[in-house]
Amino acid sequence: MTVTMSLAERLRDFIDIVGEANALTSADDIKPYLTENRGLYHGASPLVLKAGSTQEVSAILKLASETGTAIVPVSGRTGLVGGQVPREEGQDVLLSLERMNRIREVDPVADVIVADGGAILADVQKAAEAHDRLFPLSLGSEGSCRIGGNLATNAGGTAVLAYGNMRQLCLGLEVVLPTGEIWDGLRRLKKDNSGYDLRDLFIGAEGTLGVITGAVLKMVPRPRGRQVAYVGLASPDAALQLFEKASQRCGSALTGFELMPRIGIEFTTRHIPGVRDPLASIHPWYALVDISTSDSPETAETMMQELLAEAFEAGLVSDAAIASSIAQQDAFWHLRESMSEAQRPEGGSIKHDVSVPISRIPAFLAEADAAVHALMPDARICAFGHLGDGNIHYNISQPVGADKAAFIARWREVNAVVHAVVHKHTGSISAEHGVGQLKRDELVASRPAIETELMRRIKQAFDPAGIMNPGKVIG
Ligand SMILES: Cc1cc2nc3c(=O)[nH]c(=O)nc-3n(C[C@H](O)[C@H](O)[C@H](O)COP(=O)(O)OP(=O)(O)OC[C@H]3O[C@@H](n4cnc5c(N)ncnc54)[C@H](O)[C@@H]3O)c2cc1C
Repeated sequence: MTVTMSLAERLRDFIDIVGEANALTSADDIKPYLTENRGLYHGASPLVLKAGSTQEVSAILKLASETGTAIVPVSGRTGLVGGQVPREEGQDVLLSLERMNRIREVDPVADVIVADGGAILADVQKAAEAHDRLFPLSLGSEGSCRIGGNLATNAGGTAVLAYGNMRQLCLGLEVVLPTGEIWDGLRRLKKDNSGYDLRDLFIGAEGTLGVITGAVLKMVPRPRGRQVAYVGLASPDAALQLFEKASQRCGSALTGFELMPRIGIEFTTRHIPGVRDPLASIHPWYALVDISTSDSPETAETMMQELLAEAFEAGLVSDAAIASSIAQQDAFWHLRESMSEAQRPEGGSIKHDVSVPISRIPAFLAEADAAVHALMPDARICAFGHLGDGNIHYNISQPVGADKAAFIARWREVNAVVHAVVHKHTGSISAEHGVGQLKRDELVASRPAIETELMRRIKQAFDPAGIMNPGKVIG
């Protein structure tokens, strides 16, 4: 039943659920919730509700379904596809989980953490560390992104190669459905073949099916040995050959394998304070190789030395530096993780978050570069990312001295040529950041019609009133 009432009356009822102190209504207070990191989307909203419990979330969604009020779930607001930004019309109510930030329980025997949907990722990592365990999800935004957002976007990050993305790191969920019903699926089972996997539907749904209020997360043993190397290479093909050797030699100890271009090193050393190139010699490409072992530091050391010796002998690697301290390991990773930020002072940047089968990465890069340069001969391509996952952040900085607005205006045109190469190589145009508003229309147009139709039917079954994050993922 949909109740007709004025916007002001409705807002009053929503505010009463969380209390005056936990509702933002002034334009200044709401402003930070209306945009995202890259400034691509600017929405409008009359109200931000900061729920304090699963029951409050339930009451909010029940009222929203009854009154046909659109709700946008918000966690750390670090999403990169505009999923957490309300629509421009100004009718969406934002539901923030920032007050629901508790670690509910750590169970070192079952190796699980139970956390609120609003728990900050870095706090979950610390809770695991306090029990001599590792929670392996690691992202540049880990100090502010929250577990609900990580699950809703099925976040990846730097250690997917060894531990998987958020879907693989979650055993159970607590979700409030758009009707206000609470699904307590906080199971801790590694084996549970009891029908459709509801948990997997909510993970990656970007808030379009319900609000994740709690989760059971997997911990793993804390590595005892770690080696991080920064390696100079001639080409993406050499990087791929090194990756093959590394995964054969190290197996599950290979935790990260990142690819970086020379231009990315130049941007980073130029713009990020304290970052320096670990090698004195200059190379067209670089790899960051991260090995973690659960037995001893010596095992990791031997593995890395043997891998690099074999790679030098095969002529794959021209120069390499192995970090000699934890601080240096962090510095190598900081260089890689700052690559996106370092593009900002270089002007406009058109981005792609794509994946292709790993063996196709060199061909993808060569063909995408040719397609982009045919459009914009002086564009500066800075393609880097998680080579070991087949995931490349194919970013393009504007030509030196170009007009930023004119360059950014060509975003869709550039996307089209790059994504055509991705499709040719049977890849995905949304590898780890999700769909949100940014890729919704392109995905609807490019994926098989039956997939979109099945998604629409699922959406209709979970959210018949259409109140959950409308306009995102499938519209
Ligand atoms: C510097 C930087 C580095 C990054 N690196 C990576 C990376 O390596 N890998 C990667 O995958 N991403 C990365 N990201 C993107 C982003 O951090 C992730 O998508 C993150 O998982 C989003 O979490 P959040 O808490 O900020 O979610 P938000 O931005 O608040 O929300 C993201 C989406 O999830 C929905 N949502 C939020 N909370 C809930 C909830 N409780 N229930 C249901 N839906 C919800 C929102 O409606 C929105 O659609 C990076 C971002 C930045 C700024």
